[in-house]
Amino acid sequence: MKVDRLNKKSSTHNFKNRANDNRETYNSKRWNHIRRIGLQQQPFCVECLKENKPLHECIGNTRDHIVPINKGGLVWDLRNHQTLCSRHHNIKSSRESRKGGAG
Ligand SMILES: [Zn+2]
Repeated sequence: MKVDRLNKKSSTHNFKNRANDNRETYNSKRWNHIRRIGLQQQPFCVECLKENKPLHECIGNTRDHIVPINKGGLVWDLRNHQTLCSRHHNIKSSRESRKGGAG
């Protein structure tokens, strides 16, 4: 009878899914990649566009989750991403944390 403990060595795919902790997501290479592609496809802040600003004032630098991850939004689904400038991103996240969500 052999004990095959080496066999299960590489099966450590235990993703801990802690809500409220998105730092791992935003620090990951995968997010960095998706973020860069998103910014190429949609370089303008959607909120600035709604304000009808001239395009050169609408350049965004943040990829935001339309439905926040903490509220069940899809992390990697491009349809849940939008471009925001830092100003509108701050406005949105402060609004969200005031509503009681944690970031
Ligand atoms: Zn903006």
